[in-house]
Amino acid sequence: MPDDPLSWIDEESAHWSSRGLARRLRARGGAGPGLIVVGGQTLVHFGSNDYLALAGDPRVVEAARSAAAFYGWGAGASPLIAGWTEAHQALADDLARFERTDAVALFPTGFAANLGTIAALVGKEDAIYSDRLNHACLIDGARLSRATLRVYPHNDADRLDALLARDQGRFRRSLIATDGVFSMDGDLAPLGPLADLAERFGAMLLVDEAHGTGVFGPDGRGAAAACGVAERVAVRVGTLSKSLGSVGGFVAGSQRLIDWLVNHARTLIYSTGLPAAAAAAAREALAIARAEPWRREQVVHLGDRLRAHLKGAGIEVGGSTGAIVPVLIGASDDAVSASERLRAAGFFVPAIRPPTVPDGTARLRISLTAAHTDEQVERVGRLLAEGY
Ligand SMILES: *Cc1c(COP(=O)(O)O)cnc(C)c1O
Repeated sequence: MPDDPLSWIDEESAHWSSRGLARRLRARGGAGPGLIVVGGQTLVHFGSNDYLALAGDPRVVEAARSAAAFYGWGAGASPLIAGWTEAHQALADDLARFERTDAVALFPTGFAANLGTIAALVGKEDAIYSDRLNHACLIDGARLSRATLRVYPHNDADRLDALLARDQGRFRRSLIATDGVFSMDGDLAPLGPLADLAERFGAMLLVDEAHGTGVFGPDGRGAAAACGVAERVAVRVGTLSKSLGSVGGFVAGSQRLIDWLVNHARTLIYSTGLPAAAAAAAREALAIARAEPWRREQVVHLGDRLRAHLKGAGIEVGGSTGAIVPVLIGASDDAVSASERLRAAGFFVPAIRPPTVPDGTARLRISLTAAHTDEQVERVGRLLAEGY
């Protein structure tokens, strides 16, 4: 018998496990708003990006159901062939109005939106300037593009300034790419200074609004709007899968940008269109998010309350603001044990370990939604203060 060509995986996995990094999928059940069922236990769900609690909203579910009944479930083709329905167009139009841009392009996921957009905007002769804590899909998009990658320290606009100055004249085009709200730290990028730098050095600025849309800024228009620079961000990437409770990614920008992406973003061109039902659900969620500002206000209120409680107990929450509250632990196995103790007490709080976060910065990541209550937040805050 020849050796299994995959047998190398055993040794590599053993090494991975010995560092406390092994992970596995856990199937959850359905549960009410703000709750999760795992292993037969119902827990308060602090592990969801469904910030406005719209994924399970009956109006959103009904929008998906009726679009699926009308258009069928799968889109059947890529958008440029026949996978773009009236439901996709209606969502794109509403999103463009919401974002106050000319147009919007839709992608299969937010990950695909960043990957395809970055690779369509820059190539071998260009440079990308990327925050050290950027989401994996910005990093992978940079690698895919084959542009020169310059990583600057987290939120350090001065270092970015120095890098741009040093590189002046060396590249055909430059792209500054950043999360608007950092996914594992919950803090905002310094978008004002970044917009200034982009203008000063003639660079394109891409902001990933995955955790900004719906929660931050006037009407929930995102981190760039919260910093007053939305119209100075040439490329705004968003996802339908977080505050909008659906699935899919989008880019909002000028007609020039969107036409370019429709012709050159390979993750849009060579992948099947979103289900029309996903587009219809996101469109309904967007309408609800705008009509019910209490959702955004509630999640921000809960975040502020939890942060105040934790800080009062001497617990480090970094620069977080909004719906994401990280509790820094350090060692991976300590973060996992903390998560297990909270679970025994009725709370689902995921432990986030490397390589999702830098080595030595494992943490609990509490994400709040509009479905949570003051009392739930109070209880988890008390448990953490008591040393859970
Ligand atoms: C979740 C996330 C994405 C990916 O979005 P999906 O629609 O889930 O693929 C992109 N960027 C950031 C910052 C994210 O947190």
